[in-house]
Amino acid sequence: MRKNIVAGNWKMNKALEEGNSLASEIVNIVANEVKDDTIVVLNPPYIHLSSVQHLLKDAKQVFLGAQNCNENTSGAYTGEISVDMLKSVGVEYVILGHSERREYYKESNELLAKKVNTVLDNGLIPIFCCGESLKIREAGTHVDFVCNQLTDSLFHLSPEKFEKVVIAYEPIWAIGTGVTASTDQAQEMHAELRKHLASKYGDTIADETTILYGGSCKPDNAKELFANPDVDGGLIGGASLKSRDFVEIVKSF
Ligand code: PEP
Repeated sequence: MRKNIVAGNWKMNKALEEGNSLASEIVNIVANEVKDDTIVVLNPPYIHLSSVQHLLKDAKQVFLGAQNCNENTSGAYTGEISVDMLKSVGVEYVILGHSERREYYKESNELLAKKVNTVLDNGLIPIFCCGESLKIREAGTHVDFVCNQLTDSLFHLSPEKFEKVVIAYEPIWAIGTGVTASTDQAQEMHAELRKHLASKYGDTIADETTILYGGSCKPDNAKELFANPDVDGGLIGGASLKSRDFVEIVKSF
């Protein structure tokens, strides 16, 4: 079902006590200030998941997410984290295919298709990231490029499985740069993605899919971005590291 979601991606930031403080502050402010129908997902580094989970216990609308997982369910994969481990510490969402993982760790559409399967088969919700580089946007092939990312990593899914997926459109040129996609650019791409989803899964499922925007989303531009009919919330990097900024974004619907 289509939902209003704001997810914070802490990336490789915050030591344990700092992470705990950030999570507690967010939980408290959300409980007092945020509408019940908005879902908040905190995605701290793996090492903080367990302690953050304890802080979320009584938070009705704040959920725990991971920033990645391995495509295998167990075995000799030194340094990797499995979905079972994530589930055992209360994780419900997993970010997959963030552009930093695609770029620095060479995650391909094919690998991401496997990760999507592992996450869904184990009852977790993937937040599947897609988005184009500046070069691709300037070449005018951005819509095809991003639609292809969806085709290659998601379109093998049955409609029942696909319905669980959350999509995050994150133009790479807007991530961490301070350059935000204009509301028109965000709406155009989100509408194109929905059209592409409809071509595979039909209008009803496409309409029910939650599509988040990510890329320099801040308290002062979130309202305008979230007002677009096809933008259902945000995946937030830098601004998720300050509780007040993050919650102001959460309140922007
Ligand atoms: C992100 O990395 O997912 C992101 C959107 O980062 P930022 O908000 O800092 O651009």
